[in-house]
Amino acid sequence: MCIDGMGTKAIALVLRERELDRPSIHRLRREGKQLPEYKFPNNHWCASNIADILANREYLGIATLSKVTVKSYKDKTHIYRPVEDWTIFEDAHPAIIEQETFDVVQRIRDGRRRPTKLGDMGVLNGRLYCEDCGSKLHIKRRANGAKAQYVYYICRQSRANSDGFGNCTPHSIRQEIIEHLVLTDIQRVFALAKDHEVSFIEVAGKKAQKDNEKSIRKAKTEYAKAENRIRQLDDIISQIYEDKVSGELSSERFAKMLGKYEQEQIELTVKMDALRPVLEQAEAQTQGIDKFLRMVKRFTEIKELSAEVVSEFIERIEVGETVMVNPRRFPHWADEKRQNIKIVYNYIGAVPQEGEPITASASGKIAYKG
Ligand SMILES: [Zn+2]
Repeated sequence: MCIDGMGTKAIALVLRERELDRPSIHRLRREGKQLPEYKFPNNHWCASNIADILANREYLGIATLSKVTVKSYKDKTHIYRPVEDWTIFEDAHPAIIEQETFDVVQRIRDGRRRPTKLGDMGVLNGRLYCEDCGSKLHIKRRANGAKAQYVYYICRQSRANSDGFGNCTPHSIRQEIIEHLVLTDIQRVFALAKDHEVSFIEVAGKKAQKDNEKSIRKAKTEYAKAENRIRQLDDIISQIYEDKVSGELSSERFAKMLGKYEQEQIELTVKMDALRPVLEQAEAQTQGIDKFLRMVKRFTEIKELSAEVVSEFIERIEVGETVMVNPRRFPHWADEKRQNIKIVYNYIGAVPQEGEPITASASGKIAYKG
């Protein structure tokens, strides 16, 4: 049921409807024990029952021991051990579900989003971050008079958040607007990657290349040079060995030269070690672009902002605070507000739109700064 997209609460309701006993009641019944008087009926499944079952490895046929330990034989306080310390016996008893099914469920549960009171799952939930304090934006909703519900995201650290004590400003943005913006930008990047691969590689790699191109090229040359010199020194060293054996070189002179060449080799190795991270980073960037392109090829078209599209493409989105561009001059004019939005893609980071940051205007229109 979880794989079909049902949440824990929905599953619990189905089980309640089917009048199945809760796990604890089921055990008591099986063991033939007296059922206690509960204030809830026997079929009162809760969302947390379902969550426990979905995460329980014992249904895979795995017995897990020593999950809990005690401080000493005197102090019986339970201490939960970290997962690595558990004693796990695979195939201890027959599995009720398959590993693949279990893994899919865990993936779904890891990426789960809590529904708002509207029952509307914000696809961007958990991926929006405050540009200034770095904390996540929460989804909230407010009834706007008789009009439709007003769903928006707001900085978790902000005072306007219901927790009451905040040290950030709202950074609020309407769900409708941010989803529209993100979809438009994914479509832009998608089209660029699909139809203009060459210019996409250029744009995606541009930002980092601009800063690093020279230093990467320099690092590459220096690395190659050092590698060559080390090989040369190896040859020289074996040459002076021969000279020493043939008597052309005195032992004293040989020791002195050997010391010098070996010192040079050590210095070159140190230098190469320092250059390696620069080169690896450049390599990782190229690979990131490749991975992104491969991902793009798996989709034919992006029509809507589905949970799948978001989880494949989007790493995070940073939302800036609203800035008034022009104070309103006449009461019937709407304020012109701008907000910076930075969309960070998986593998490739932000893909600049001609170098300009994306901004959202309060009217819901998309505007590009500049
Ligand atoms: Zn904040």
